[in-house]
Amino acid sequence: MLRPGAERVARLGGLHRFMDWRGPILTDSGGYQVLSLAELRRMDEGGVTFRSHVDGTSHRLTPERSVEIQRLLGADVTMCLDECTPFPATEAQAATSMRLSMRWAARCRDAFVPRDGHGLFGIVQGGVHPALRAESVAALTAIGFEGYAVGGLAVGEGQAAMFGVLDGTVPLLPADRPRYLMGVGTPADLIGAVRRGIDMFDCVIPTRSGRTGRAYTRGGVLNLRNARHAEDAAPLDPACACPACKRHSRAYLHHLFKAQEMLGPMLLTWHNLQYYQDLMRDLRAGILAGRFEPAAAAAQAGWDAPDDRAPEAAEAAA
Ligand SMILES: [Zn+2]
Repeated sequence: MLRPGAERVARLGGLHRFMDWRGPILTDSGGYQVLSLAELRRMDEGGVTFRSHVDGTSHRLTPERSVEIQRLLGADVTMCLDECTPFPATEAQAATSMRLSMRWAARCRDAFVPRDGHGLFGIVQGGVHPALRAESVAALTAIGFEGYAVGGLAVGEGQAAMFGVLDGTVPLLPADRPRYLMGVGTPADLIGAVRRGIDMFDCVIPTRSGRTGRAYTRGGVLNLRNARHAEDAAPLDPACACPACKRHSRAYLHHLFKAQEMLGPMLLTWHNLQYYQDLMRDLRAGILAGRFEPAAAAAQAGWDAPDDRAPEAAEAAA
């Protein structure tokens, strides 16, 4: 929207061509980004007015403009603009915020131009309050969407509270539509959410962790900055087929991070994405075979290995 601008991306052929990405693209509505980046913002019934973090100019984001931007970008999955309810919030605050998001969801539905292979997802809000979550699901399913997201989680409520919301919310969602948990999470979060019926996720964890030296592996979490890896000739994860694991040693990856070579973050990002893809592939196969719990147990079997259980502490000690 702000840089390089939705209209410019559209003139350049859309995001798929701009990035040369042939897979599906899901775009967020901008609501969370406005909340997390913009210093000056004013929310009203019509939308949100905010100041750009790029150049300070003033902008207006409405449900209609958000859907238009996502169409200009060429998104395969468009998300409804919603208000990201702050956490913690009182039940009254969460209710007011959720009901505004439901009115915006209806406006997004009206603004969305139906195209073959493209869909609009509604976002369930309501904080950690079961009655509000149920009211939100009822409002969204009455409008009708191609998929349903559970939003407003992973904002500090903790894994137990998050799973509690999923226990109460996911069974209310249509079984024949994708269910998407926004902004989640660690491998353990993914397994617990899939167990509760979630199909899709998005999260910065695999890429951001990769950039800072944290690797998710079948043996648990490793911090490649830790000095214990300095002469370790073993691969990061012997069962992984990514270039970091197939071609390089833990010692080399450790060296790259110590030398602040950008290849280190690149390789570890690749690895973490491969690990997450492998994890989801194994869970899907388990579900198809009617053996989800054995697949989940197999994925977690190595996590208790006594290697870098507390990477930050280990790094500080090193
Ligand atoms: Zn790997």
